[in-house]
Amino acid sequence: MEQGKYILALDQGTTSSRSILFDRTGRIVSLAQREFAQYYPQPGWVEHNPREIWSSQLAVAIEAMANVGARATDVAAIGITNQRETTIVWDRATGEPIGNAIVWQCRRTADRIEALKQAGWTDRIREKTGLVPDAYFSATKLEWLLDHVEGARERAARGELAFGTVDSWLIWNLTGGKRHITDVTNAARTMLFDVHRCVWDEELLAEFHIPESILPEVVSSSELYGCTDASVLGGEIPIAGAAGDQQAALFGQCCFERGQVKNTYGTGGFLLMNTGDEAVTSQHGLITTIAASAGGKRQYALEGSVFVAGAAIQWLRDEMREVKSAAQSEEYADEVFDSAGVYLVPAFTGLGAPYWNPYARGTLVGLTRGCRKEHFIRATLESLAYQSADVIRAMAEDAGTALTELRVDGGASANNHLLQFTSDIVDATVYRPKCIETTALGAAYLAGLAVGYWKDLEDVRTSWQLGRTFTPRMAAEERESLLFGWRRAVHTALAYAEYQEQRG
Ligand code: ADP
Repeated sequence: MEQGKYILALDQGTTSSRSILFDRTGRIVSLAQREFAQYYPQPGWVEHNPREIWSSQLAVAIEAMANVGARATDVAAIGITNQRETTIVWDRATGEPIGNAIVWQCRRTADRIEALKQAGWTDRIREKTGLVPDAYFSATKLEWLLDHVEGARERAARGELAFGTVDSWLIWNLTGGKRHITDVTNAARTMLFDVHRCVWDEELLAEFHIPESILPEVVSSSELYGCTDASVLGGEIPIAGAAGDQQAALFGQCCFERGQVKNTYGTGGFLLMNTGDEAVTSQHGLITTIAASAGGKRQYALEGSVFVAGAAIQWLRDEMREVKSAAQSEEYADEVFDSAGVYLVPAFTGLGAPYWNPYARGTLVGLTRGCRKEHFIRATLESLAYQSADVIRAMAEDAGTALTELRVDGGASANNHLLQFTSDIVDATVYRPKCIETTALGAAYLAGLAVGYWKDLEDVRTSWQLGRTFTPRMAAEERESLLFGWRRAVHTALAYAEYQEQRG
């Protein structure tokens, strides 16, 4: 039988579900997107309705196909990428969720994490899972659901319940309940998975009272998992790839080799470095995680997150009202020669990697009488690059590999000023692909490779299209001087954090 023309990527995000059809050249043929409801039952709690996750994802898959008249036979395979860590438990017999999904952002289990840290679990969790104990990850969310939903523990003990992150939930529904699986990259975000042995960790399962029968089978990110039930998309389509969103983006940027790094300039900033077959333990506050890979080869990555990236530009627009659109930040930044010694540290919600200080707050330093709006805007825009540079330096030190190139995506990567400055301050060539939907593209690659739609990694690399290259053109002396100023600005933010901490 002739293979389908397209790969369908299901991109299940935190605020919306998207489906994209790609062709063999990696071009977007059709895209559909739908937002779904966020539930905030208490301050700091965030939930999704698993039914809405599924129905919105299915609806946009049908829409993306219908837009170009594609039938099930036109789709060679489906690849999935998803918001990570979000936790769902459902009944194996009926497929009915036992409650809402607890979303990665939800802080309801923060006390449990504090207790774990007090009990001395930090190092062991880090050694086994590569993660810093945090309420983001699935373990304490799953424990919470089993403890708080009436009868859940008994049902789980009888083997009646299934747990999964969003990839599992989608695959379960796509296959009509035939497959209960998760891919390794998603498993690596549960804080229950030993990333070295690649198995669910018995000791952690015991600590969180998780029965093994509730867990999905762990599979690779690129293999044939099964087919869609014919009733779902009008035919049996192979499901052949899955990866958490950031790992999918790393793959979608063709960062297949050790030392390659991608930076997503979205609302926050997400940097991942491929560390090959070595699980590098960070000495600088980064997370060790499993990277998505094809062909049965296991690969690892170092990950660092910046809490506020594009969100600083939104702040300029919505709160400061300095720009009318995010894109305008580029025009203003280009109007001045430099930021005139002004630095903004956008630590609005604390500082993430590599500082990890929840008490830090936004800090503006270096103002003089001559400081103009343009300098302030430029300083804000360039803070995205400085923060990335800090994470990149930590990665390079951890991995012992100097960085020579960086691939960027995300909404703010449209900003040329930002990318040129990133190249200058990191002293690396910055590549922006033509298709900045790299997350969905990564899921498509993973699925396409598994079914032979793309022959091998080289075939994928050939289809990957470069949009624009930015090469460093700043003198080393100037770079060092600017970075010195940035570090002093961060120190200032951290000094003020002590006051915040005292206030509690
Ligand atoms: P997410 O997927 O995290 O919601 P996106 O990748 O869609 O985010 O990126 C949106 C962010 O990018 C917003 O915070 C916005 O301020 C920023 N952004 C969009 N366009 C530009 C631009 N031209 N210059 C700077 N920032 C931009």
